[in-house]
Amino acid sequence: MRMINGTTAVCGLIGNPVSHSISPLIHNNLAEKQGLDMAYVNFCVEKEKVGEAVRGADALSIRGLNVTVPHKQAVMPYLKAIDPAAEAIGAVNTLVRTEGGFKGYNTDFIGFERECEHFGVELAGKIALLLGAGGAARAVAFACADMGAKEVVIFNRTQEKAADIADAVNKFAATGVARGLAMSELESFAKVHEGYVLVQTTSVGLHPHVDEVITDLSVVYDHAECGVDIIYNPETTKFMKLLQERGKKAYNGLTMLLYQGVASFELWNDVKVSRSVAEDVLSILEAEMERRRAGESAAGTVKSDKGNLVLTGFMGSGKTTFGIWLAQNKGYMLLDTDAEIEKEQGRAIKDIFATDGEEAFRDMETEFLKKLNERKLTGVVLSVGGGMPVREENRALLKSFGKVVYLKAEPDELVKRLTKDTTRPLLAGKTGAELKAHIETLMGRRESQYLDGANQVLETAGLSFEEMWRKL
Ligand code: NAP
Repeated sequence: MRMINGTTAVCGLIGNPVSHSISPLIHNNLAEKQGLDMAYVNFCVEKEKVGEAVRGADALSIRGLNVTVPHKQAVMPYLKAIDPAAEAIGAVNTLVRTEGGFKGYNTDFIGFERECEHFGVELAGKIALLLGAGGAARAVAFACADMGAKEVVIFNRTQEKAADIADAVNKFAATGVARGLAMSELESFAKVHEGYVLVQTTSVGLHPHVDEVITDLSVVYDHAECGVDIIYNPETTKFMKLLQERGKKAYNGLTMLLYQGVASFELWNDVKVSRSVAEDVLSILEAEMERRRAGESAAGTVKSDKGNLVLTGFMGSGKTTFGIWLAQNKGYMLLDTDAEIEKEQGRAIKDIFATDGEEAFRDMETEFLKKLNERKLTGVVLSVGGGMPVREENRALLKSFGKVVYLKAEPDELVKRLTKDTTRPLLAGKTGAELKAHIETLMGRRESQYLDGANQVLETAGLSFEEMWRKL
């Protein structure tokens, strides 16, 4: 065990949530192996405090920070300088302290490049076929262009996002190498191309949705040379299995994660980490992931003493914050129905309300619950959208999933919490007395449904999360 003393340099991670991140394992092991006096810790930072966190870290002489979801863009206005590649990618995941403030870098793209190098995945002169156009895909697309791919073709459910990444790559590389297409065009593309490197960058297939895959079109896998899935939990995703079944090499994203960390570490400490040191740390990460998976698969025995928990309640009742706390402190896996539906639909809830209406959204909620019940999960805490228990069918589905706890908060407290919240479609534009009247009406209408759907009513007034937990 290394000594932490008066000269120890501090680095860390800012994001929310961060408690499950394995970055401390990467950096503290690198520091130990390189013989450097550095310690790395996770800092959970709320979205409205990103600026304060960066300024505070500067004031505390923190040497460097990693930045993760959801702050990779939000952090940018608070930096003194931004590396041109990170500027072009439009996201920063590494901050290096300089005279007068932090400089931002993107090492995700370096992580992907080094993963390819590590496994001998050759991109030069090849087609890189990317599935997905989220934040991580941006870095991967830049990396593919940088590694000399003759074409970077990005397919995404939301085509505009794919086109946007392609534009950014073309502008930066001053070439027309990239293009963004709709997922519906994937089959016809794959039919007439062969030998491409297939890269899966969506969140589809991520634990616990391990049986899902972004596409199961045979031709896509038949014509690929090999593939990389940037997801690293599970170890072998369905996407990877579809390639391996065809005798093709497929790699997960753990090595990318390692090397983005290695690249950050090198920037902070002005050192070069050798491949053998990186491989040692990779083995540690693999063992840790194995240990976590064992924990997850033991969830049925370890965590099922309380089975699944379902948190219901009015908007602002604390379902999400208590859910995060349970995930961070009591070993539950948090699923948030609103977030899951947004992911599935690729749209924000307020946009679903605006275009399809509330009834269509309630249908999506019912469908989501039916699928969730089929998956026989345990050890889950489900944070439920405020209006979900309105439907009788949903109330029954929630009860069959787990113990339903209605988090009850008084209207005055809810008004206080909701006053500054602009993300709730049913509260749009309401403030002050109007907001209070609206909340009271809505509560009056829903209270009987919450009560009907609950196995337990938990009065949250004045209770800490620990005290709430003890009452469950
Ligand atoms: P993100 O910005 O939220 O993007 C998610 C992507 O997945 C988007 O392209 C989205 O399509 C697509 N998607 C999500 N659900 C979908 C569905 N049901 N059907 C079709 N497409 C769907 O996420 P991100 O930050 O890019 O992260 C993506 C994944 O990469 C995560 O699993 C993350 O853990 C992993 N990751 C790994 C590393 C690493 O170092 N290995 C680094 C970063 C991220 P739309 O655009 O249409 O919504």
